[in-house]
Amino acid sequence: MKPRVAFFDFTGCEGCQLEVLNFYTEVVDLINAVDIVEFREASSDHSDDYDIAFIEGSQTTKRDVERLQKIREKAKILVALGACSCTGGVNALKNRFPMEENLKVVYGESAKYYDTIPTRPTSAYVKVDAYLHGCPPNRNEVISLVKCLLTGKKFEQCHNPVCVECKLAENICAFERGEFCLGPVTRGGCNAVCVTAGRKCWGCRGMVDEPNINSQKDVMAKYGLTLDDMMMQFKLFNGALEVSK
Ligand code: SF4
Ligand code: SF4
Ligand code: SF4
Repeated sequence: MKPRVAFFDFTGCEGCQLEVLNFYTEVVDLINAVDIVEFREASSDHSDDYDIAFIEGSQTTKRDVERLQKIREKAKILVALGACSCTGGVNALKNRFPMEENLKVVYGESAKYYDTIPTRPTSAYVKVDAYLHGCPPNRNEVISLVKCLLTGKKFEQCHNPVCVECKLAENICAFERGEFCLGPVTRGGCNAVCVTAGRKCWGCRGMVDEPNINSQKDVMAKYGLTLDDMMMQFKLFNGALEVSK
């Protein structure tokens, strides 16, 4: 019997599901090896019977948390899909303001009908078996994870900072262009796609394991910047992690 796979969306832009749809036709063999029983962006099918649950989005309401816990009870394997799910993502910007104020600004007089809680990543409420970092996640990593789940192999996240892939791509460093880049402390695995496209790294893949903070401090000192400057920028995608500690 094929593993039954379900995708669930919580608070996010649904760009992670869209990215999966973007490469759907390129991996037909892989898709044929599983039964996709729930995937709101592509199908109206619904099922409460699944083996692998992909969780897109962060948890920002009490309802989200209850729904997530029910999914965890049913799923044998639960995967955090994308930055919102892995670290809270940009949704955590609301954590900077009082929750009542957020409700009032968004819903006005209807605010009393809604609840909102500080944004937190999926791991704050349930056990997560695997993480697919990024906004959106890298398609090769998604494919690699699914293959590992099907074959029983261990899925290895990238443990290098983005700088490693950036240097291999022979990019001109963003610091040399007068920009502030989070590549030295951010988990790689995206092939430094933003820098290669002429931008900088905003840290969407979260903090790399054992970041070389001293080296980053030296780089920043060279350009007249501080560790506080770096942490301010890092909060764009990773602000919710402060609440989770
Ligand atoms: S991680 Fe990015 S692409 Fe995915 S739901 Fe969140 S904001 Fe959208
Ligand atoms: S700091 Fe940014 S631009 Fe410079 S090498 Fe690292 S990832 Fe590339
Ligand atoms: S370069 Fe940085 S911001 Fe861009 S995808 Fe990679 S980790 Fe995310």
